[in-house]
Amino acid sequence: MRHAIIAGGGIGGLTTALALQAIGWRVTVCEAVGTLAPLGVGINVLPHGAEVLHGLGLGPALDATGIRTRAIEYRTRYGHVLSSDPRGVEAGFAFPQYSIHRGALQFLLLDALRARAGAEALRTGHRFVSVSDDGDGVTATFATGAGEVALSGDILIGADGFHSAVRRALHPDEGPARAEGMMMFRGAHEQAPFGDGRTMVIAGNHDVKFVVYPISEEARQRGRALINWVAEVRHDAPRPASEADWTRLGDRAFIDRFREFRLPDLDIVALMQATGTITEYPMIDRDPLPSWSRGRATLLGDAAHPMYPIGANGASQTIVDAAALAAALTDAADPGTGLRAYEDERRPKTAEVVLANRRSGPEAVLDIADARLTGPGDRVEDLVTPAEREAIAARYRQVAGFVKRGETA
Ligand SMILES: Cc1cc2nc3c(=O)[nH]c(=O)nc-3n(C[C@H](O)[C@H](O)[C@H](O)COP(=O)(O)OP(=O)(O)OC[C@H]3O[C@@H](n4cnc5c(N)ncnc54)[C@H](O)[C@@H]3O)c2cc1C
Repeated sequence: MRHAIIAGGGIGGLTTALALQAIGWRVTVCEAVGTLAPLGVGINVLPHGAEVLHGLGLGPALDATGIRTRAIEYRTRYGHVLSSDPRGVEAGFAFPQYSIHRGALQFLLLDALRARAGAEALRTGHRFVSVSDDGDGVTATFATGAGEVALSGDILIGADGFHSAVRRALHPDEGPARAEGMMMFRGAHEQAPFGDGRTMVIAGNHDVKFVVYPISEEARQRGRALINWVAEVRHDAPRPASEADWTRLGDRAFIDRFREFRLPDLDIVALMQATGTITEYPMIDRDPLPSWSRGRATLLGDAAHPMYPIGANGASQTIVDAAALAAALTDAADPGTGLRAYEDERRPKTAEVVLANRRSGPEAVLDIADARLTGPGDRVEDLVTPAEREAIAARYRQVAGFVKRGETA
């Protein structure tokens, strides 16, 4: 039986383990932290990512946990609806889009992996250190509380996130990460629902932006909403990308930047003030790499293509990577050829998304309108034309690869 060693037990590592287990591989996921906890706040799984997870038999669990997103609304800071981009099966996509708590998604994947591959498929407290390759397989070394442990397998997948040690091993001379100068403050708070309880709202402009959406089906069933929000503000002195940490607590002073914002049935300042834990994370990415693989080792997810979390793509592209890897390994005569086929398919596509996200991706409509905005009394038709709206949305669907029935990717 072929054996894959996967460094990283986040969204990408666990999805890859499930996808490879489904094609008959043995998998060992080595996660650095000693005890996995359901960390993070909201994350989105776009229709093409949802297709992969449904294919792995996780549709019912996703439906029980996340919200089937109905639409993404782009608004000015005064609440004008510039564009409403319908999502989900009703809008012509073959699969739903889900807004979900990252930790809940991670544990949903983890439970499935334990049930299908046994508890031994996950080793916590194993931090990747190095890899050697003899042409027929790999030996990866992990630092553990009991010293270094070497594991041998057919392939190594580096799914160890933004600060990937596998990426550093394969590309030791890569420069520092790129910072956009924006800080994202995040939180989630349960309260009464807003709108239809299934809509994501993105309001403001490139420099001061508010993103808000519900993420819990369980809360929705009780008539409540677990509301995830991200407040993005340009920072004069952004923290270096090397210090980016999803669990760093944020200072609440930024809330004042949003006092002018008006959304019809949601007081966003009150929402932020009521939120118990607010974290901060900078808007950072890296230039696309010229290669992902060396011999029998490759990269996946944020380790391979760290991108700005714009257009809800970080987790989705990672999930699509996992399916592409499993398909390539199924078709290939040997694992090395499979890794090259996976990289040939996914590297150019994800590089395009990284670059599109630097140009604001689907959110470009906000800046077009903001440049014309004079006040709450403006007419929407003076802020953005229907042709501008649809051109931006359709272009991004193509780049990100989640087209509607009848569109071509
Ligand atoms: C704690 C945490 C909270 C997050 N919260 C959010 C959020 O609220 N919203 C959002 O949009 N995105 C969040 N993200 C990022 C998001 O999960 C990813 O952008 C996306 O899902 C791609 O997943 P990934 O598996 O490539 O990376 P990640 O989900 O980041 O997973 C990488 C995993 O690798 C592990 N790891 C790191 N170094 C090593 C090593 N040397 N050896 C072994 N394992 C290692 C990490 O502990 C982590 O579990 C968070 C990530 C983390 C780690």
